Amino acid sequence: MALVNEHFLKLPNNYLFADIAKKVNAFKVSHPHADVISLGIGDVTQPLCPAVIEAMHKAVDEMGTEATFRGYGPEQGYLFLREAIVKNDFLPRGIHLDPSEIFVNDGAKSDTGNIQELVRWDNSVGVTDPIYPVYIDSNAMIGRAGTLNDGKWSNVLYMPCTAENNFTPQIPDRRVDIIYLCYPNNPTGTVISKEELRKWVNYALRNDTLIFYDAAYEAYIQDPDIPHSIYEIKGARKVAVEFHSYSKTAGFTGVRCGYTVVPKELTAATLTGERVALNPLWNRRQCTKFNGTSYISQRAAEAIYTPEGKEQVKQTIQYYMNNAKHMRETLTSLGITVYGGENAPYLWVKTPDGMGSWKFFEQMLYEAHVVCTPGVGFGPSGEGYIRLTAFGDSKDCEEAMRRIIKWLK
Ligand SMILES: *Cc1c(COP(=O)(O)O)cnc(C)c1O
Repeated sequence: MALVNEHFLKLPNNYLFADIAKKVNAFKVSHPHADVISLGIGDVTQPLCPAVIEAMHKAVDEMGTEATFRGYGPEQGYLFLREAIVKNDFLPRGIHLDPSEIFVNDGAKSDTGNIQELVRWDNSVGVTDPIYPVYIDSNAMIGRAGTLNDGKWSNVLYMPCTAENNFTPQIPDRRVDIIYLCYPNNPTGTVISKEELRKWVNYALRNDTLIFYDAAYEAYIQDPDIPHSIYEIKGARKVAVEFHSYSKTAGFTGVRCGYTVVPKELTAATLTGERVALNPLWNRRQCTKFNGTSYISQRAAEAIYTPEGKEQVKQTIQYYMNNAKHMRETLTSLGITVYGGENAPYLWVKTPDGMGSWKFFEQMLYEAHVVCTPGVGFGPSGEGYIRLTAFGDSKDCEEAMRRIIKWLK
């Protein structure tokens, strides 16, 4: 008899986006002529930039000729891309990485979910709340999260991020083995300062904690003082893995490419206290379970680092950030409290008069025909907030704001 991994059975069904779709469909059935605008889903809308398209066409042609055809590539990713990453994403910030510390992946979701394989099943886990669900669920699937009681896992420390603490999680007063941080944050759109991030690195150094740092939205940072990488903080290489993605940076949600940094200095302990380097372990894991990202996707990613690619990617990010600015200004002028949206493509909006997330979602749907994401869907501390994304078409975004003005006035 094959026995199922019963940890999967403890997972709550994540119905968030299915629930939203159901409610939107019910509305559409009763209002067949309403034109509904979605500012809900975290996917990009603007096409790939010309430099990327050109690189992809070229790579496709290479695949069609025997002399330039490529089969399996290196599991770690092609050196041309890893060198471009080291040179463009880190060197200008004073961070010296070796290409062997970079692991190209098929998007950050896989690695943020898989990285926990490197540590024992009985480590404790800390997360900010609200949160990107992959971190907790991937730990729950192998039993590390414990059991779920009243919406919280018994072996997970939840660190609330709310208006009351300015969305800055408090450093835990006890030691935790693994901490997940995501900045700029999805869902709140807020960022972390160098001082605050330094506190986390120092906490990790003191407590022998491993930090998994998700930098998927780093390209959206506008403020020059906000760190783009945890390795801007001294000592971070000893304690942190960092995840990057081209999905939001360059519209690669359908192309699939990103990378993970596992520094050579990063170690974890055995039960007898020996230090083990995690870079060779992750390399071993990748060589066993991953056969590399497609050559075409990696050439596409490389093109982002050309002068034209950089400029074009910047323009698309600016396009989304203009949406964010317009949304922020409109909502603020209506007396609504808005967080995020300045260094991230998400706005975290406080519902008026302490209204519940779902209630506000429904009112906005029925009265303005605009879809948002209820904050409580990202964790208990998200109650009383909704998330709006700036990833829409700018015309849709402007129309949505006109409707919200009419609705709230
Ligand atoms: C979108 C997103 C990612 C990246 O996902 P991909 O698999 O690279 O498309 C990673 N982390 C967070 C928090 C995200 O929102």
